[in-house]
Amino acid sequence: MRTIDDLTTELGSLSGKRILVRSDLNVPLDKETGAVTDDGRIRASLPTWQRLLDAGAKVVVVAHLGRPKGVPEEKYSLAPAVERAKELLPGVNVTLAADTVGESARAAVAALGDGELLVLENLRFNAGETSKDEAERGAFADELAALSDGYVSDGFGVVHRKQASVYDVAQKLPHAAGGLVLAEVEVLKRLTETPQRPYAVVLGGSKVSDKLGVIDNLLNTADRLLIGGGMVFTFLKAQGHEVGKSLLEEDQLDTVRGYIERAKERGVELVLPVDVVAAAAFAADAEHDVVAADAIPADRLGLDIGPESGKLFAAKLADCQTVFWNGPMGVFEMEPYSHGTRAVAQALVDSDAFSVVGGGDSAAAVRTLGFDEKGFGHISTGGGASLEFLEGKTLPGLTVLES
Ligand code: ADP
Ligand code: MG
Repeated sequence: MRTIDDLTTELGSLSGKRILVRSDLNVPLDKETGAVTDDGRIRASLPTWQRLLDAGAKVVVVAHLGRPKGVPEEKYSLAPAVERAKELLPGVNVTLAADTVGESARAAVAALGDGELLVLENLRFNAGETSKDEAERGAFADELAALSDGYVSDGFGVVHRKQASVYDVAQKLPHAAGGLVLAEVEVLKRLTETPQRPYAVVLGGSKVSDKLGVIDNLLNTADRLLIGGGMVFTFLKAQGHEVGKSLLEEDQLDTVRGYIERAKERGVELVLPVDVVAAAAFAADAEHDVVAADAIPADRLGLDIGPESGKLFAAKLADCQTVFWNGPMGVFEMEPYSHGTRAVAQALVDSDAFSVVGGGDSAAAVRTLGFDEKGFGHISTGGGASLEFLEGKTLPGLTVLES
């Protein structure tokens, strides 16, 4: 992949050059105050920005937040992320344009000094960013390209997307992968090419249908597959157990039965919870008890794996050399259902394995539950991107950086 060194050679020097950086600033915001609740992605973006600033570039950052529908919407403004970035970059002049490629953006880019950083407003305020129509996307990419002399792709969380700021603009400007993208790819290669064994994969989160491709592929490479979170109920049901009102994807039962078969054939150890925290409602203050995984009452829903399962999962991870974890074990946002996720995180901190945490919610869970990031081998900034990489797919945003 092309690096910032290659880009520097191509441009002669970065000093005084306008460098467009696609970063991932899609951070969770507090519903009441609007403040950033987990700044992991902002902090992960800093080293590349800093490197370009140090080289005297005029740094123009583009990013998205949430899912606006192609028009500006105040609640999706990048302002809270930029406020946090300012705190993290003391001594750097950091500003936010009022639009993405309009009058405000053009004027702000023109006024930008060397070693200063400008963030353009949410990319997805423009329909061209995510359009399926090549021409519409291309036209928007042209507007972005007009604001810059070179392009650095550093938003790992979006490299699996064929979007204007990720895919199209790279083809219109001298380009390079940023340090974050390079680091993420290196880690994922360690998981796909030569994982040290035993290699365990822990999967959770909400829906099994989000993760079919990756399960399919991991059944070829992993030694153990541990399943928790909302998706586990489709597995339990596939094994003939009743799951009450728990999250269940009836239409995936056959697929999951197929996975259980293949795991057996290939000698992949499939580890399911033995107990579950079953609640009367989807609420932190709902009545809840620990029940056996094969005895979930009809009027209850499983919101976490139980304490015995936490111990079982920890034991299954203890001797591993490599672990990939995607998806919380329960509804960790509510304290009573956070213990399973906590148990898995602690098991990874305690183990000597090279551990990779992938997934936006999983990474946020690890941090909001108070774990030190240093306890893990790597916390990925990209959920979907890391899953698609592990699935063996080609990621359009990486392909364009190859030549
Ligand atoms: P990631 O972003 O790490 O890939 P997902 O987006 O797949 O993870 O899933 C995260 C969500 O899954 C969390 O918001 C969590 O509340 C939810 N979840 C976990 N366990 C359950 C469960 N038993 N029932 C319903 N939702 C669950
Ligand atoms: Mg998620």
